[in-house]
This record gives sequence, structure tokens and C-alpha cells, in this order.
Amino acid sequence: MISFEAVNIQWLFFLLAAATFSVLGVLFPNWFKELGNPRPHNGLKLFNECLARHQFGYFTFFCALYLAASFDPKRTWIRNLNWFAIALSLGFYGYGLFSSARLDRKISKNHTCQKDTECEVAFPFRFRLRLSLLNIFFALVSLVGGVFLALLVKP
Ligand SMILES: [Zn+2]
Repeated sequence: MISFEAVNIQWLFFLLAAATFSVLGVLFPNWFKELGNPRPHNGLKLFNECLARHQFGYFTFFCALYLAASFDPKRTWIRNLNWFAIALSLGFYGYGLFSSARLDRKISKNHTCQKDTECEVAFPFRFRLRLSLLNIFFALVSLVGGVFLALLVKP
């Protein structure tokens, strides 16, 4: 059922490219914006924005799989799983953007700092992890689903 043929490796590379370009699309504008207008705790915010936006790469990947990949026709559950993955990645993307927008409020509940300046205060690892945990979980679910579906493509 799962195979590691050339076509599967190609789909894995496409998955890697889709996720990477989505992340780069967030990083580059942020780095340029930071030069002139730094925001406090940019690292934590940027990390969560990257996790959210890279879900759109998964959305692209799952749509491409649905349109171009061939699966075992006897296993109809794979197509259903593909549909589910499309919907899930869109949901993860939406929630990720929402949680990124709420991050300012969550940070300001625990800590106040001036706007539009860098803040020297480093949050504890557990606090940063707590704020990012759901986005990390979504990223892992999408990664497992994407790799699994890529390996199910029929050579
Ligand atoms: Zn601060």
C-alpha cells in the first residue's frame, strides 16, 4: 500500500517545497519590516505566523494530490482522506491566523512592553510553548497526513 517509488519521492519534494515557500512568504516581508519598524517579541509572533501560514502550503499540496495523483481505486477511503486533509488544512490555517492575531492580547496579559520597539525581556520556554502548542500540534498532524498521502500515491 505505502510505496517509496520515484513518484512518491516527487510528491514528498513537492510537499516540502509548498510548505517551505509558504514559510518564506512570511519570513521575507517580516524581516524587511523589522528593519524599519521592529515589533516586540517578534520571534514568538513570527514563529506562530509561520506555523499558521505554512498550512496554506498543505492546502495547496492536498488539492494538487486530489487533482493529479492516482491512488488505488479499490481503496476509496484514500480519496476521502484526501478531502478530509484539504478541509483540515484550511481549518488549521484559519485557526492559526486567528490565534496569531490573539497573541498580542495573550502576551500583554502577562507582560507589558512598549509598542513598536524591540523588547529585551525573554519569556520562559514553557510560556512560549504554551502559546504555540496548538499550532505545533496542527503542524505535526498536517505533516503526518501529508507524508502518509504522498506515500499512498500509486506508482
Ligand atoms: Zn515585552
